[in-house]
Amino acid sequence: MSNTTSGNDDSKFYLDLLRAYFDSANDAIFVLCDERKFLVCNRTTQDWLGATEEELTRHNQRMPITDFFRDEDSEQRFRKAFDAALQGEPQRFECHIHPSPERALWVEMSVSRVNVAAGDMVIVVARDISQTHAQQLALQHQATHDSLTGLPNRQLLQDRLNHIIREARHAGERVALITLDLDRFKDINNTLGHDVGDRLLVQMATRLRQLVERSAFVAREGGDEFAVLMPRADPEQAQQLARRILVAMEQPFEIDMDSDVPLQSFLLGATIGVALFPEHGADAGTLIRHADVAMYQAKRLNSGVALYEPGQDQHSPERLGLLGELRRAISDNELVLHYQPIIDIATRRMTGVEALVRWNHPTRGLLAPDHFVPLAEHTGLIRSLDRWVVQAALRSRQDWARQGIDLDMSVNLSVGSLQDVLIAEWLIEQLRSSKVAAGRLQVEVTESAMMTEPERAVEVLTRLAATGVSIAVDDFGTGYSSLAYLKRLPLHKIKIDKSFVINMAENDDDTMIVHSTIELAHNLNFAVVAEGVENAQSWSLLKALRCDAAQGLHIAKAMPAEALGPWIKTSGWKL
Ligand code: C2E
Ligand code: CA
Ligand code: CA
Repeated sequence: MSNTTSGNDDSKFYLDLLRAYFDSANDAIFVLCDERKFLVCNRTTQDWLGATEEELTRHNQRMPITDFFRDEDSEQRFRKAFDAALQGEPQRFECHIHPSPERALWVEMSVSRVNVAAGDMVIVVARDISQTHAQQLALQHQATHDSLTGLPNRQLLQDRLNHIIREARHAGERVALITLDLDRFKDINNTLGHDVGDRLLVQMATRLRQLVERSAFVAREGGDEFAVLMPRADPEQAQQLARRILVAMEQPFEIDMDSDVPLQSFLLGATIGVALFPEHGADAGTLIRHADVAMYQAKRLNSGVALYEPGQDQHSPERLGLLGELRRAISDNELVLHYQPIIDIATRRMTGVEALVRWNHPTRGLLAPDHFVPLAEHTGLIRSLDRWVVQAALRSRQDWARQGIDLDMSVNLSVGSLQDVLIAEWLIEQLRSSKVAAGRLQVEVTESAMMTEPERAVEVLTRLAATGVSIAVDDFGTGYSSLAYLKRLPLHKIKIDKSFVINMAENDDDTMIVHSTIELAHNLNFAVVAEGVENAQSWSLLKALRCDAAQGLHIAKAMPAEALGPWIKTSGWKL
């Protein structure tokens, strides 16, 4: 072998070696001319792009790499990096390439310039990082989405809201934030279990998603709270959407509880608060808080939807002022009780009254309980209020007894009192000092109060029942406790909520609900009182359905203590 031949062989050997090495790389390696067209490429490049080197680099028909970009952002990134590399600044970046419409790779590219006699070229090394990228995306998704419903979570809502606010500020537009809270969700979750609760939340998320436009952003803020972000909204549009959501949430949700039983249907309902950028807040945090405040206002007013108004804030000076005044009102006896007669339907005799509190406010006049009981319930003040009511009611009962009017007395206990382990002992003391037999006092507790911290409530109810006081479930039918569940509690009476009774005469569904409630309650040995008996038709229907007692405007509205005696004389109802 001659030296020259050996030299040629050597360089061929090295070239072949280099080529083999080039082709064996897992990365795509290719060289582009200054017009971004292929000059040389390795096997991996050919595999990725589904084209041979020959096809990619054919003289006069060299293909530009830009043919393999399909998303604009990736192509822009590439062009910028390529130009910088040509200027002598090597670049490294990530982008999508699309060998075919169906196939996309997420790659990390390193681009750098090579100077050779023929001119400047760019060498590209591209590594397929699709898998790690997908994992990263999945992690990111997990951190920003709720795993149950797949909706964005509070964190993402906040980020997105801040982003949309920045854009809106620029464009001089408004943004609406709609916050909604399911009305009876906690009861369902507590009584029927988390599995049912979860399935309801999923259905509810789907319903919400379908309802809003694509441009709106739906998130789960946590628990049973959801949010909808609406760009370019005015107050009227935002409230319209809120009302549409409300209507949709009031449609029954159906759940397959068990294969033997047909679909169970649940009525949930929601309460909605609306806050707008810029008038109600300039950043995401403030807007979220104010939409919440509006939602609590809607709950308090039972209005379904409320737009934020400055001053509703729990911590607003007005609210704090009212709270301070209420504290004083309790000690200064500004509260008064009105009493509503309760009539035994079979005998038409008046058997008792329910004490209903009002606030004789020095400047605002006589305030209904809706204006201050919820406020007291949000603070510990409700316990003092309930205790004040019990004492005042027992005093009235003593006064009437002296006039020969002997009545059962019903008082309402809020959830705060139902969590008060000392209430039973305190009641015994009150009964003793006012010389009222325990059996003549009845406490009314709502289903939802019994569902809040059920264990504590059961303990307190058991102690109460042991004192001999009778216990009634108030507003029955509006919560989700089943009668079977209530059977396990020491209860004596069911008060059917007035919403079912008021329209009984015109509404067959309501009559049916009242009918079956009475049947079931009687089977379980509960007496039944119907509230909201407003007319003679409901009275007759209730009588036919063997309801035990009635209360409502058909008989009398609640009246001051001193009015009761005269009313008994003139009303025609006997004692
Ligand atoms: P509630 O216990 O369900 O009381 C019945 C409410 O229905 C009373 O309203 C009563 O005036 C009203 N009502 C009575 N008959 C009829 C009727 O035929 N038709 C209609 N549409 N309504 C009728 P009020 O006095 O405004 O009380 C509202 C709620 O405030 C009560 O609902 C109760 O939850 C709460 N509350 C009232 N007094 C007290 C109290 O002393 N302590 C506590 N913790 N809560 C109270
Ligand atoms: Ca009541
Ligand atoms: Ca009631």
